Amino acid sequence: MTRVLKVDSDKCIGCGTCVALCPKVFALNKDGKSEVIDQVGDSEENIQSAIDACPVGAISWDGL
Ligand code: SF4
Repeated sequence: MTRVLKVDSDKCIGCGTCVALCPKVFALNKDGKSEVIDQVGDSEENIQSAIDACPVGAISWDGL
């Protein structure tokens, strides 16, 4: 099963927490929203930490 890491840009408030935790996975785009740049850029555990740390629950795995 292929999983796709997604950020819901409608929910994202651009706080930068996910970028700080996993800078190889997430980056803020020109609109100040996080987007996934490399979903295998960090360990599952660290990505899960970013998912858990997002204050608005904008990050999720799709296709589970
Ligand atoms: Fe957006 Fe959540 Fe990342 Fe903050 S932690 S930048 S709200 S996706």
